[in-house]
Amino acid sequence: MAAAGGTAGPAEDGPGAVAWGDLLARAEAAARHAYAPYSRFRVGAALLTPEGRVFTGCNVENASYGLSMCAERVALFKAVSEGARRFRAIAVAGPGPCPPCGACRQALAEFDPALPVVLAGADGEPAVHTLNQLLAMPFLPAHLGEPEDERR
Ligand SMILES: [Zn+2]
Repeated sequence: MAAAGGTAGPAEDGPGAVAWGDLLARAEAAARHAYAPYSRFRVGAALLTPEGRVFTGCNVENASYGLSMCAERVALFKAVSEGARRFRAIAVAGPGPCPPCGACRQALAEFDPALPVVLAGADGEPAVHTLNQLLAMPFLPAHLGEPEDERR
């Protein structure tokens, strides 16, 4: 698959290869479904599995503001609810560069503390970070001393 904007990434290797730019485009498309009548800040996310499945999400606000949900967690919860627990990357798109909030970083770290996070750079080109760059010390299942068998 060709990289949008000419930017390649590890997601282009192997089965289910998806270029960073293409994953970011999926996030941008998902943002069009955002329900954001209060903030008007429309965000989309696209979460890629190793098999090439892409789960998208958008932010969903509520008149009771605190109930609003981020695009990243919508995508993550959709994926997990459909049986996916391993992820290769997440792309997030908003009106401008839109890094995941702390809550979403923690939620994603549960599944991969080093997950690549694809954002739109200042020039619109995909900019790839890793979750452990964005969240230095996540609280992980190991901190609970829980067995791993439930997680995979
Ligand atoms: Zn968030």
